[in-house]
Amino acid sequence: MVHHLSTTPQSLFEQLERQFLKPKMDRKPVHYFCGNSLGLQPIMARHYVSEVLNDWSELAVDGHFYASNRWYDYHKKLIPGLARLAGANVKEVTAMGTLTGNLHLLMVSFYQPKGKRTKVLMEASAFPSDQYLVESQVRFHGLNPNDHIIEVKPREGERTIRHEDIIESIKKHGEEIAVVLFSGVQYLTGQAFELDQIANAAHSVGAYIGFDLAHAMGNINLKLNQWNVDFAAWCNYKYLNAGPGSIAGLFVHEKHANRSDLPRFAGWWGYDEETRFLMEKGFKPMEGAQGWQLSNENVMSMASLRSSLELFDQVPMDWLFDQRKELNFHLEDVLSKFKELEIITPKKRGAQLSISVKNGKGKALFQHLHGQRILGDWREPDVIRLSAVPMYNTHNEIDEVERALRSFFQTKPVPNLNLA
Ligand SMILES: *Cc1c(COP(=O)(O)O)cnc(C)c1O
Repeated sequence: MVHHLSTTPQSLFEQLERQFLKPKMDRKPVHYFCGNSLGLQPIMARHYVSEVLNDWSELAVDGHFYASNRWYDYHKKLIPGLARLAGANVKEVTAMGTLTGNLHLLMVSFYQPKGKRTKVLMEASAFPSDQYLVESQVRFHGLNPNDHIIEVKPREGERTIRHEDIIESIKKHGEEIAVVLFSGVQYLTGQAFELDQIANAAHSVGAYIGFDLAHAMGNINLKLNQWNVDFAAWCNYKYLNAGPGSIAGLFVHEKHANRSDLPRFAGWWGYDEETRFLMEKGFKPMEGAQGWQLSNENVMSMASLRSSLELFDQVPMDWLFDQRKELNFHLEDVLSKFKELEIITPKKRGAQLSISVKNGKGKALFQHLHGQRILGDWREPDVIRLSAVPMYNTHNEIDEVERALRSFFQTKPVPNLNLA
C-alpha cells in the first residue's frame, strides 16, 4: 500500500512533510533540523513493521516464504531504491548489516597490504568509528597504525580540508597507498568531498577507493557506478529515515562482481541463492554486492526502511537536490545575518550547516533553540549542526530559526571582546 504523491513541485513538498511524524514539545510539533543524525519516522513505518509482526504471529516460520511480503528475499524490495540513490545498478547494491560492520567486511576484501603498498589514506578527524575500524584493520595485518594511516588535515587555522590537499596527498604517497577511504560528507563540518575526483586520483596511483556515505546517501547526488568507486557503505537511519540502528547498505562496483580472488569473510546469506539451501560445503558467492551478505536480516528493520524508500522512489532526483539547495540557501541566508555566527561548512555541501558561535556562546544558543522547539545537535567542542532536508523541512521552519536567533542575540547582547 504505497501512498501515491502528486508530483507538481509545490504540492510534492507539502505532501511529503505530511508523510513523516514530527516529535512534539508542549503539544506542538518541533522544528526538526536533525535529519543528518536520525531521520524522522515515516507514517508508513508502523504499518509495515506491524505487517511483519502480524505475519510472525500468524505464520511463524512459514512467514519466510508465505508472508504477504515474504521475509526470505525482503531485502530485494529495497535494492532498487538504494541503487537509485547511490547511482548504481541493482547488482552493485544490497541492504545488510551495519555501517561499521559493512566497512570492515569491505576492508577485508579491498585492503590487502602487499610490498610497498601498505597504507590507508583517510581524512583526519574522521567519524570515530571509521578511525577505529581503519586502525584495527591495519593492526589485523600486523602493521602499526602510526606508520600505515595517512591522514589529510585542514591547514593550520582552517577547519575544513582543501580539495587540492587531498589530491596532492594521494599523489605524494602514490604507491604506498593500498586504499583511500573517505567520507562522502564530513559528519562534523558538513563538507561534501569531490568524490569523483578523489576516486580518479586514487585509481591513478593504483589504489582502491572506498567511501563512507553515512551523511551522503539521500543527501547529495551520487554516481558510484559512473565514478568507478570500488566500494562503499552507509547507514540508512540518517537522511534515509529507516529508524535507529536500522539495516545499513553496501556497494561493490560491478567490475568486482565476480572476483573470486578477493578475500571475504563469508556467511550463508552471501552464498549462491539457487543452491543456498543444499547447505553444501565450500563457499560459492552470489554475484555482486549480495555476495558480501552474511546473515538473514532483521525484517522489521527492513520494513521501516521500505516505508522511507517508497517515498524517495516517488521523488524525482532533480527535485530532491534542487529543494535541498533552496532550503540550504535560505538557512544560510538566515544564519549570515548574525555576525556572532560562523558557518564552518564550505560551499560544497549537502543539507547540513555547521556553525560555531563566537565568544563561547554555543551551548547557550543551542539550549535557547531547544527551548524554542528547534532541534539541531551539539558536537563538542563548539559546533551546532542544523540540517534542513527536502523530505520534511519547510521554509516556515527556517523563519522560526531566524526568530529564535533574534530573540537570543537581542536579549543577550554579546560584549565586543575585541576592544579589550
Ligand atoms: C553515523 C556514522 C557512522 C555510524 O556507524 P554505525 O555502524 O551505523 O553505528 C559511521 N561513520 C560515519 C561517517 C557516520 O556518520
